[in-house]
Amino acid sequence: MNSGQKIVVIGSGIGGLVSGLILAKHGYQVQVLEKNHQIGGSLQVFSRDKKIFDTGVHYVGGLDKGENLYRIFKYLEIYDDLDMKRLDENAFDIVRLANGVTASHGIGYANFGNHLKASFPENKEDIDKIVQEIQLYCTYFPLYNIELESEINYVEHNEVLEVGAWEHLADLTDNEDLIKVILGSGPLYAGLKGVTPFYVVALILNSFIKGSYRFVNGGSQIAKLLMKKIAENGGEVLRRKEVVSANFNESGNIQSLVCSDGSQYACDFVISNMHPKETIHLLGRDRFKTAYANRVSALPNTIASFMIYLSLHENTLPYFNSNYYDYYTDNIWDDEFHFSESWPQMTFTSAQVSKNTKEYAESISVMCYLDFNEFKTWKDSVRTIVKEGVREDEYETFKKMCEERILNRLEERFPGIKSKVKNSYSSTPITYRDYVSTPEGSMYGIQKDFKHTNRTQINTKTHIPNLFLTGQNIIFHGILGATIGALVTSFNFVNNKQVIEKIKMYD
Ligand SMILES: Cc1cc2nc3c(=O)[nH]c(=O)nc-3n(C[C@H](O)[C@H](O)[C@H](O)COP(=O)(O)OP(=O)(O)OC[C@H]3O[C@@H](n4cnc5c(N)ncnc54)[C@H](O)[C@@H]3O)c2cc1C
Repeated sequence: MNSGQKIVVIGSGIGGLVSGLILAKHGYQVQVLEKNHQIGGSLQVFSRDKKIFDTGVHYVGGLDKGENLYRIFKYLEIYDDLDMKRLDENAFDIVRLANGVTASHGIGYANFGNHLKASFPENKEDIDKIVQEIQLYCTYFPLYNIELESEINYVEHNEVLEVGAWEHLADLTDNEDLIKVILGSGPLYAGLKGVTPFYVVALILNSFIKGSYRFVNGGSQIAKLLMKKIAENGGEVLRRKEVVSANFNESGNIQSLVCSDGSQYACDFVISNMHPKETIHLLGRDRFKTAYANRVSALPNTIASFMIYLSLHENTLPYFNSNYYDYYTDNIWDDEFHFSESWPQMTFTSAQVSKNTKEYAESISVMCYLDFNEFKTWKDSVRTIVKEGVREDEYETFKKMCEERILNRLEERFPGIKSKVKNSYSSTPITYRDYVSTPEGSMYGIQKDFKHTNRTQINTKTHIPNLFLTGQNIIFHGILGATIGALVTSFNFVNNKQVIEKIKMYD
């Protein structure tokens, strides 16, 4: 492939923007087409009562000097302009179980281990073993460690993909509460017993142990900086451009992409940042091998979420520099998060970092699992800034009821909080489906399953010769996962050794 050729990226999520930027830096002509008014996918923010709210990303790991995401962001030339706040060294996450057991996750392995040992003094040896296992599993993934090859790797040792997280921890300790507090940040990856692989937990937890940060006034700054760098390298990111179809040439290559406003974008190559299932749907099932299209379409996706955004009365709640994972059920990794009398069974609570005040929290966001099916009555309606659809009053009533339930739960764990809330807003699984186009509002796309490792692996190459995939479904999700996935996508076009060598310079 020659630089100078034109690459059109569908979608401006972190995966689309990072692959677009790497290719623009290598001389490709890059155009990113984004359907929304705002770029960034799950990095989008919104503002109410003059306060900013993150919709998806609340904190990101691997950002301490010398760590994987730090090095990649340095290479992309965005790191120095990021306005971040490092989370509490001793408690970036706090997990509170239904039985009253509480534990903190500290930054740095020694700190992480010591905080767990403070809560579980009887299990010091188990904790050491678990911490070692987390670190060991991370060594099997060369790219995660900014290497192209490693002596031990998951390709030659496929068995590391086939170990269940809950199951593995149960082999390492008999203390179920210890397992629960370690896996208590499971909503970061929608952890499930019998499904979620240990490597997913290891890669994600390790990254947060190695430097967890919030973004001042929201994570959208990452997307904005990437867009700026794409422009500096001769590319462009166009908003309100929903790709609805494609024109193909005789050899089955995509010649141009067609947007809902009738505009067309000629291309030599296309990178889709959409969910693979949606990509197949958009470009036509008959363009892909039937077995592939069937497999991808049938893969289960991670659960969706309901978010409540609380705008607080001024100077009433001191800013807290930790995330809280609160459980109201003993079955923390079981599939019991559907709407019921006891919903929500889990809340994830995070304070927004604001430029205006350091001492107090201006606003907080709370995430709960919620299945898309609870909203299926409204599944045919669409409502975004670009597509201003309407939903009946029943939808708003249901949302308000969910908000009320969550506020009652919060009051149990943050006594007095209700009196500090000025206004509340919320988003549902349908909101996420509309804004990000993941099937049924799934938070993290395809659910990784240690029992079916091959099935859930998505290649960046497709049956359409000039179509490539990127985004959270390639390697793993999250800002780190989708960024590493974008590296893999870009390696179809650029010399991987050269890119890795450059990234490695930032240590
Ligand atoms: C509620 C929630 C909380 C999260 N919290 C965290 C967190 O704290 N930390 C973390 O690291 N990660 C978090 N994540 C995960 C992380 O945000 C995602 O894994 C990551 O942002 C996904 O990036 P992506 O590249 O796959 O693209 P996405 O963000 O999925 O974006 C895809 C883009 O494609 C666009 N698009 C789709 N169809 C079309 C079309 N036809 N034409 C044009 N454009 C189109 C969409 O509008 C969207 O902008 C969270 C996710 C959610 C939902």
